[in-house]
Amino acid sequence: MKESLRTVRAEERALRNEYSGVVVWLTGLSAAGKTTIANALERELFDEGRQVYVLDGDKMRQGLCSDLDYSPESRKENIRRAGEVAKLFADAGIVCITAFISPYRSDRDMVRAMLPSGGFLEVFVNAPLTVCERRDPKGLYAKARAGIIKDFTGISAPYEPPFQPELELRTDTMDVAACIAAVVLELKKRGKHGANPVHRTT
Ligand code: ADP
Repeated sequence: MKESLRTVRAEERALRNEYSGVVVWLTGLSAAGKTTIANALERELFDEGRQVYVLDGDKMRQGLCSDLDYSPESRKENIRRAGEVAKLFADAGIVCITAFISPYRSDRDMVRAMLPSGGFLEVFVNAPLTVCERRDPKGLYAKARAGIIKDFTGISAPYEPPFQPELELRTDTMDVAACIAAVVLELKKRGKHGANPVHRTT
């Protein structure tokens, strides 16, 4: 049998699932709402019958990236590894939602470049720093202000907002349901049933 007939191609997975794998890359300050939106979006898509998985900073940093710190070089490497893992999920036909601060534009662009065109949706989860600091669900801003946590994004380390994200969610003015609806709409715009247009090639 010819190798090309035996290998399972992305198009075949997409035809079976009726949507393509895709990476939904959430970026924003700590407490902007990435984890909340990622989990709620996962629930929504899962209940719609899609294969979906959330990759977040904790999952990565506790395992695959446990050797990395928060220096710019380590942050870059953290995002590179996260991007490679997300790519594998998308390749397997899964909607992979990631929730990393990913503060550097060049790091996010590096991940975009790893994926096929249309396979990377950059979603800017945006709330002003003052709002994030007021929320401070884990008390991290207080620790950063006190100098207990070094290199904290927004306080003592930079955050570079995306220039042209596929979507921006203002979490200080939109509630969680509105944010989820906006992402689902964006995904559906990209294809009848899911992430990207699915073309039968055989
Ligand atoms: P991050 O993962 O970006 O650090 P979290 O999701 O852990 O942020 O925390 C965001 C906090 O903001 C939560 O307490 C959440 O309930 C609150 N919040 C308020 N409005 C929104 C919204 N529209 N989207 C997401 N989170 C919101």
